[in-house]
Amino acid sequence: MLTPYTAGEQLKDKRYIKLNTNENPYPPSPRLKDLFGAFDESVLKFYPAPDAGVLREQIALCEGVGKENVFCGNGSDEVLFLSFAAFFDGTRPVCFADITYTFYEVYAKFFGVTANVVPLNGDFTVNLSEMAERDCAGYFIANPNAPTGVGIPLNEMERFIASVPEKIVIADEAYMDFYGESCVPLTKKYENLLVVKTFSKSYSLAGIRCGYAVGNAALVRGLFNMKDCMNSYPVDAVCEAVCVQALLDREYHEKTVALVVSERERLRRELLALGFTVPESKANFLFAGRAPVSAREIYLRLKEEGVLVRFWDKPLISDFCRITVGTREETDVLLKKLKKILT
Ligand code: PMP
Repeated sequence: MLTPYTAGEQLKDKRYIKLNTNENPYPPSPRLKDLFGAFDESVLKFYPAPDAGVLREQIALCEGVGKENVFCGNGSDEVLFLSFAAFFDGTRPVCFADITYTFYEVYAKFFGVTANVVPLNGDFTVNLSEMAERDCAGYFIANPNAPTGVGIPLNEMERFIASVPEKIVIADEAYMDFYGESCVPLTKKYENLLVVKTFSKSYSLAGIRCGYAVGNAALVRGLFNMKDCMNSYPVDAVCEAVCVQALLDREYHEKTVALVVSERERLRRELLALGFTVPESKANFLFAGRAPVSAREIYLRLKEEGVLVRFWDKPLISDFCRITVGTREETDVLLKKLKKILT
């Protein structure tokens, strides 16, 4: 029996302050406003480029790699799925942390690959030295990790990647733009490294569904082979054009990332002052818990009050909520409601 991934609530019954699925509170680049008029029939009636070449070229420029080092898919979820299909044949396990992005476990079951799961350290850091010892064909490592937000410094990642040359390391950097310790430069040095990124978070484009991988050309060809057995055109013409424009507006990207980061730090200080345990986060969300009121109750009461946060009724994390960083105004409302719930 397969266990599907449970996506966060996308409730439409009323207007919520939505802090539950790590979307960006700011709109995407204003450049996109005028773009849709350009989608005339010639763009819409023909199939898009199967290799998303224009977008891959732009990503390559931004990431400082070659176009042959970039693969694009329908959201980074699809890129992760194809990575599983391409690099794990089921003869050896896949290794990941016990508290991490739950899709890794879903994919492992889907592909019939045994999961070799390594507990996080007590301070929520990823136990890389233990992971290096585990028998496996490779690793999925979310950096920053989800749902904790804890980041792994680049030098620690490099030491780890160098110590497991026979195993593939898939670094899921969905939230890396809020941290700035990307492993992308290491893809030139280590053939066993694939970095996966997304437009959903820092580019405010979760609705568009585009993610990409950066790695050496052989790994990228492996992903193309899998894609071409499944779907010739995972990146449609509208998606490709939108993401190119978003990449071109670097200034706007940097500005909104900086706003999220500074709001994250303010929200963390306030949550700590309210008595929450909150690991230092390098992502666009905070993992807050061990408060005098249970995480379940906080989640339910906030929902009643029109604020959505994420809560998992699962061992190890049922004492915590994951709160996406919103705008300053949204944070103010959240804090007011939390104070009410806690008193
Ligand atoms: N990786 C991690 C760690 C995530 O939290 C998410 C978002 N759910 C994804 C990948 C997938 O993002 P997307 O498919 O929107 O690119």
